[in-house]
Amino acid sequence: MDEARAIVIGGGVAGASIAYHLTELGWNDVLLVDRRELTSGSTFHSAGLVGQLRSSVTLTRMMMYGVELYRRLAEETGVDPAWHEVGSLRLASSKERIEELRRLAGWGQTFGLPLEIVSTDRALELWPLFDPEGVEGAAYLPTDGYVDPNGLTSALAEGAKRRGATIWTNARVTGIDVDRGRVAGVRFEDRDPVRTDVVVNAGGMYANQLGRLAGVEVPVVPFAHQYLLTKPIEGVRPEFPTMRDPDRLVYFRQEAGGGLVVGGYERNPAPWSWQDGPPDDFNNTLLPDDWDRFEPLANGAFSLVPDLQKAEVVRMINGPEAFTPDGEFVLGESDVRGFFVAAGFCAHGIAGAGGVGKVMAEWIAEGEPELDVWKMDIRRFGRHYASRRYALARAYEVYATYYDIHYPNEERQAGRPLKMAPTYGRLSDLGAEFGEKSGWERPNWFGSNEDERYEELRPRGWAGRHWSTAIAAEHLATRERAGLFDESSFAKIEVEGTGACAFLQRLCANDVDRVVGTIVYTQMLNRRGGIEADVTVTRLSEDLFRIVTGTAFGNHDLGWMRKHLDPDERVRLRDVTGALACLGLWGPKAREVLGSVTDADLSNEAFPYMTAKEIAAGDAPCLAARVTYVGELGWELYPSVELAVSLWDALVEAGHPHGLVPAGYRAIDSLRLEKGYRAWGSDITPEDTPLEAGLGFAIAAGKEFVGRDAIERLRAEGIRRRLRTLVLSDPRAMCLSNEPVFSDGEVVARVTSGGIGYALGTSLALAYLPVALAVSGTPLSVDLFGERVPAVVGDDPLYDPKGERIRG
Ligand SMILES: Cc1cc2nc3c(=O)[nH]c(=O)nc-3n(C[C@H](O)[C@H](O)[C@H](O)COP(=O)(O)OP(=O)(O)OC[C@H]3O[C@@H](n4cnc5c(N)ncnc54)[C@H](O)[C@@H]3O)c2cc1C
Repeated sequence: MDEARAIVIGGGVAGASIAYHLTELGWNDVLLVDRRELTSGSTFHSAGLVGQLRSSVTLTRMMMYGVELYRRLAEETGVDPAWHEVGSLRLASSKERIEELRRLAGWGQTFGLPLEIVSTDRALELWPLFDPEGVEGAAYLPTDGYVDPNGLTSALAEGAKRRGATIWTNARVTGIDVDRGRVAGVRFEDRDPVRTDVVVNAGGMYANQLGRLAGVEVPVVPFAHQYLLTKPIEGVRPEFPTMRDPDRLVYFRQEAGGGLVVGGYERNPAPWSWQDGPPDDFNNTLLPDDWDRFEPLANGAFSLVPDLQKAEVVRMINGPEAFTPDGEFVLGESDVRGFFVAAGFCAHGIAGAGGVGKVMAEWIAEGEPELDVWKMDIRRFGRHYASRRYALARAYEVYATYYDIHYPNEERQAGRPLKMAPTYGRLSDLGAEFGEKSGWERPNWFGSNEDERYEELRPRGWAGRHWSTAIAAEHLATRERAGLFDESSFAKIEVEGTGACAFLQRLCANDVDRVVGTIVYTQMLNRRGGIEADVTVTRLSEDLFRIVTGTAFGNHDLGWMRKHLDPDERVRLRDVTGALACLGLWGPKAREVLGSVTDADLSNEAFPYMTAKEIAAGDAPCLAARVTYVGELGWELYPSVELAVSLWDALVEAGHPHGLVPAGYRAIDSLRLEKGYRAWGSDITPEDTPLEAGLGFAIAAGKEFVGRDAIERLRAEGIRRRLRTLVLSDPRAMCLSNEPVFSDGEVVARVTSGGIGYALGTSLALAYLPVALAVSGTPLSVDLFGERVPAVVGDDPLYDPKGERIRG
């Protein structure tokens, strides 16, 4: 064999599933290779629990697909993966935990996950051996279960083989050929090379080493993960659901013969071979038992299941597994075209394998997956993850706090501060409460703006935890006077060359071929019409465009553009994020403030909305762009970094007589929501089209672009759902996203984002409603922690509907 359509490296559960799903899509000529036997990496020592409820909707849907697949594999392939659909219990041993479960049960309803909250007594009927003391209740999911990891991998491999896949074991990959940024082939230790256009790195904890063969950094970090197996315990029955008690950091499942498997996530995790990856001969191997590290888990398990104390331990399993810096999988195409990655399953690879295989196969065969996989997309990791130390610090924190309740807007601490805007010192002096995004330190709000008068606006419950009166103060000051925002972390990409205009015209749904100095708001769509990027494009000269996108989306958007760039096109793409600062100045007083530090004519006639010009503000030459994401008159100012502090000082001083305040990202979020502006990644995703999202105005007529056919089709057929703003009856009941929306007792939608509109004095949420309900005034309700809060469909947008303020 000297050529294959795709080569999947790694014969663990993930690689086998990708081969299975690729062949299902008709890619029969697939080669699956492993340096030893199938399952000889992390897969063979897995505990095999399959839990579907995860941190994101997409991941949960992937897990749900996995269960469907595991149910039918035995019949389909003749190999039995020993799927046991025993259900699962997630205990709540604190009041906060039961709140968390209620919240999860709420969003489970939005996509048909049969999760129910049960009493402690009902949980005891299902699992009679736990001590109910302190247990407040549980979440019960009858379709969870466990599977034999080896059986599952064999069944998937068999399915792939039956459809034509070739499997090589003892085939160690030693090189990956890359030609002009594209994968060209794979080299082996003891075999001839094989040519291919598609390579999938399904190397588990070895994925970083494998990635480096192609020059791709895969930020997985191996950690040792342990569980123990006991001899039979009286009363343990085969039909016991799996059980987790996050407050005691432990999980359980029944082991054949009546024993228990007991594992968990310790607070002092053990990274292993994190710098260079596992040794060359590390296959079919376990690490030595680490009883000291297991002790806190054992204590938690003993206190919950007292009979365990008398049980005899058969053995401890201590095996390494790939974790990631944010606890989510690493999937997708890398910067090297045709080089895909599917790794970093954070001890959920068995549960995730079905969905991972499906998503990856679609991505490879069809160009993009059907689901919105942004949270798992390899492009979410910036270049700073090339630091293994940083990747380790981030992954360590995630592992150590795995079972904690993560309240909304909680900020991670590890590896900070990393990227700082030039104004960082100034912002700190003003009492900035920093949050972190993609390594950037960004002010969430300023302590100097705290104002007790707004305490009465504090959202109730969880939403009020990471909140400050300063958010309301900054929001209102921007509406009434002016706010100054440091947005230097915004990703900025330059597209340059004689082919730049034609290239962007092909990718953008809006028309960007406009006179120099025009700013265009546009989406880039996939072939299904889904929104892959949501950006502004400013034409700086005939052949130079600057794209501005969200802090976290630079890599993603750049990747999307690179993927569509023909090598012969005369276009250069450059990330200039670090070279330019960005200060946003907005509010009714913005013109007066800026006008007092510049000679430029800022009048509407000379400087209309959605245009940009080079000006000098204070002593800083900068590009001034008249755009807004907060719905007020104002400008984004882009000086080069060394001038940012000088510009900041000039604006603060000039703003003083006008009541200007420094303002942070939490105010941006509430301001944009009030104005009905959408956020990519939550309100608009690759699964949503601009027509459904109410962004049809940003689609140019009579122009070809990627996704146009799908949009035309949808226009002809008519949309079935539409993104609308809901106004909740209680201004302090704040949606945190993913809450179910009800009409007449039926779930009809899911909240995509929520917040308080401080100027309107209301609680707002965005949700895709069936068109029949997407009518202003329609009464609905939203489930917040099990409580139904009445809501009504609002006019869109609620704030400044005619856009008079931004054009004023
Ligand atoms: C103790 C423990 C308990 C766990 N319990 C659960 C659980 O209950 N539920 C759950 O869902 N998950 C669990 N997991 C996680 C699960 O086991 C993993 O997520 C999953 O097995 C990872 O599969 P993989 O295919 O990505 O990696 P692996 O199984 O590690 O496969 C990667 C393969 O790549 C091959 N490879 C590497 N380099 C090369 C090369 N150069 N050339 C050729 N081949 C190469 C390796 O030989 C290896 O076989 C657990 C993990 C551990 C450690």
